[in-house]
Amino acid sequence: MDRFEAVNVPVWRASSVLFDTVADVQAASAGAAAGERQASNYATTGTPTTFALAEAIAQLEAPGHAARVALAPSGLAAISTALMAYLSPGEHMLMSDSVYGPARLFAQGMLTRFGVQTTFYDPALDADALGALIRPNTRVIYLESPGSYTFEIQDVPAICAMARARGVLTMLDNAWASPVFARPFDWGVDVSLLPLTKYWSGHADVLMGAVVVREALWPALHQTVRQTGICVGGDDAWLVLRGMRTLPVRMRTHERTALAVAHWLQARPEVSRVLHPALPDHPQHALWQRDFLGASGLFSFELAESASPERIAALCDGHRHLRLGYSWGGYESLIMPANIGNLRTALPWAGGPLIRIHAGLDDPHSLIADLEAGFAAYGRTA
Ligand SMILES: *Cc1c(COP(=O)(O)O)cnc(C)c1O
Repeated sequence: MDRFEAVNVPVWRASSVLFDTVADVQAASAGAAAGERQASNYATTGTPTTFALAEAIAQLEAPGHAARVALAPSGLAAISTALMAYLSPGEHMLMSDSVYGPARLFAQGMLTRFGVQTTFYDPALDADALGALIRPNTRVIYLESPGSYTFEIQDVPAICAMARARGVLTMLDNAWASPVFARPFDWGVDVSLLPLTKYWSGHADVLMGAVVVREALWPALHQTVRQTGICVGGDDAWLVLRGMRTLPVRMRTHERTALAVAHWLQARPEVSRVLHPALPDHPQHALWQRDFLGASGLFSFELAESASPERIAALCDGHRHLRLGYSWGGYESLIMPANIGNLRTALPWAGGPLIRIHAGLDDPHSLIADLEAGFAAYGRTA
């Protein structure tokens, strides 16, 4: 057999890449330095496995757009790499107040050390109000829609149009929706940040992230990745490639299950509000309906009364399906009390205790049974 073909890309485990001639070395090195597709002189630059993953991500996240992808060892590393690529000392960033907590900490910590200033803005601001916060040195507007824990939807297309007219880059964390339910590049976003750890891989067994950029923005990202040594291993890349084959079917199940649980929670007397953008009473439901193609499995609910830590623990501890854990997006269901007190500066959280749910691929009745038992324990606890 002189040609063997399988469905999937094989795993390349590599550090050194071998060549037949010095001329081949020089050609590959020039291509790698220039950031050409599929060019590699050392496996930090890529292997056929990581190139296949990057290509598949570009096609799913940015269909119809010329885009390039850099892989990073976690979603947070993708965020920090993108911010390092596009911000320099003396520059300024506008960041949504409900961003993923560690992204805020990177801005407040590392970026401050390196002379970049960040202003956190209320995620409910419209494009004009946000435009009024732009300074002469503002280089980036960082968006996350819906926001972490509180699920505000931003008017991303209007903000991107405003930012482009003012010469400011837009970055969006597209963790929640995945490309199945959101098309950031159709909205006008310049940089999309993907925790592949979450829905893309889908099985809670790998950490990875990606930065997806419009082609013109590739040189700066490529240089940052090259200078910092950000890269991923072949086994991990293969796990993400394997997971993403089922992304669309998983997303539809997450959506259905989360909505069933959200509707059930809305009828509970202990709950004052369910924060889920697909519910008609969500403050930006109309924006969600206009821009998104569906809703994922992650949402929160707010308790009607302030509750002691013991009561919150009684509600959340000891479940069979809704286990306590942070990294959502896998097949498993999760529950987590939200502690956002120190993660909001533009708009301090004034509501009741917040609980976040990730509806995995379980039967919704299993999750409702867990919550029913949780509310019974909550009721018995002073
Ligand atoms: C989890 C998460 C990330 C980071 O992903 P990791 O791979 O866990 O580092 C980034 N953004 C959002 C919104 C997330 O929920």
